[in-house]
Amino acid sequence: MSDYVPTIGLEIHAELKTRTKMFCRSKNDADETRPNVNICPVCMAHPGTLPVINREAVRHVLRVGCALGGKLADYTEFDRKSYFYPDLPKGYQLSQYEYPLVSGGELLGFAITRVHLEEDTASSMHGSDPLATGDDNTGTTSIDYNRAGVPLMELVTEPVLHSAEDAGRFARELQLLLRYLKVSEANMEKGEMRVEANISVQRTDNSEQRIVGLGTKVEVKNLNSFRAMERAVAFEIRRQTQMLEEGKDITQETLGWDESKQETFPQRIKEGSADYRYFPDPDLPSLKLSGVSGFSAKDLSSTLPELPWKRRGRYLKVGVKPDDADSFVRDAALGDFFDDVSAGYDKESALLAANYIANDLVKIIRDAGERDTEKRGEIPISAHNFKEIIDMLRERKLNSRTAKDVLALSVESGDSPSRIAAEKGLIGGTVGEDAVGAVVDDVIAKNPDVVADFKSGKGPALEFLVGQCMKALRGAADPMALRELLKSKLKV
Ligand SMILES: [Zn+2]
Repeated sequence: MSDYVPTIGLEIHAELKTRTKMFCRSKNDADETRPNVNICPVCMAHPGTLPVINREAVRHVLRVGCALGGKLADYTEFDRKSYFYPDLPKGYQLSQYEYPLVSGGELLGFAITRVHLEEDTASSMHGSDPLATGDDNTGTTSIDYNRAGVPLMELVTEPVLHSAEDAGRFARELQLLLRYLKVSEANMEKGEMRVEANISVQRTDNSEQRIVGLGTKVEVKNLNSFRAMERAVAFEIRRQTQMLEEGKDITQETLGWDESKQETFPQRIKEGSADYRYFPDPDLPSLKLSGVSGFSAKDLSSTLPELPWKRRGRYLKVGVKPDDADSFVRDAALGDFFDDVSAGYDKESALLAANYIANDLVKIIRDAGERDTEKRGEIPISAHNFKEIIDMLRERKLNSRTAKDVLALSVESGDSPSRIAAEKGLIGGTVGEDAVGAVVDDVIAKNPDVVADFKSGKGPALEFLVGQCMKALRGAADPMALRELLKSKLKV
């Protein structure tokens, strides 16, 4: 009997957010829709032009390296990677070969090999020639050089991931990091972040748990969403495992992902590694980074914001639910809002605030975003006003239902929640103790069977009684207090 162990390595490209391109002064604008607008003789590879290194792009990659705990290069250079393709006007791509800007580091505990800087290629558009006349322009390819020379970061992981979930978690966390550092929008659907997965499946000897057959590596490209990536990786693991089980060989090849069929398909067979004839670009200076002011690890580290995983850890430590913590990390504006609201709060109040933000407020934000796209993601209430609601809840001036009403009214009018609660007669909407006592007595009298269940130790019975009391009081009571009162009246 054999076991099969999948191994995955990722190569992730991200277009960097800079004012200009990597080696010229053409604008770097991913949102430009008119073709061939942001171009100049340098990125069009006219003879006699000379490239100049974009300092901002180098700094972006070094900051990513700092955040990942990688080793920043002291000496670095750019190399020519030669190959022929219509989207590559120079006939070579400027990239980094032997001296990447960053070596090592890790993300979510997964080891990173290197992070380097290169330039993007132009983009080809098949069958969509804007100049073609007539109905049929299939078979034509037009090229847009706006993207040629845009700074591109490439991150390569060690082959240390072992499932589609690992790959998904890694790529999502990297996207978050790039956004936190404001170095890339990293939008996969727009091609600002592109993931390639190298997947192999190895047969291991069950008794000794050692690898007996080295897997053949297959590369999956053109993954334009996290879900597509996870599905493609899972599909490949299944496909390769099955082939090995049937005693078949796996071909080393490059695959694409067919979203409609939900399967991978061969793009081309890899015939060994292409000879790119890397050599240092003679038109660019090599860099001694320690000589560049502001580029030391110490200087760069001081520019880092709180990193996504640190922030998540901070929320989990307070006791925020993992899903809520994740939404505060993913939506930094929401996280900032939680930080503002919970400042100065004890743990209990902070968790109460987290709960109301992650549920009630998020729902209001989502509904508003659906009605009016301009308001998408906007937080419609000040932290000060939100705090008032949480304070009133803590002082039991509001209960969970009246708090929702006050929140909705305050969002609508912008008025102070305490004023709204007072004007609408919602404060002290909690009924007096005597009235609550009478209702509790009544509920106990009307439900002898449930009371018997409760006394015989049936858990849900108490919750049923609490529910009955809440119903009778039309929600104007604190369920915790009701629970205690019921327990004391039933003598437990
Ligand atoms: Zn240019």
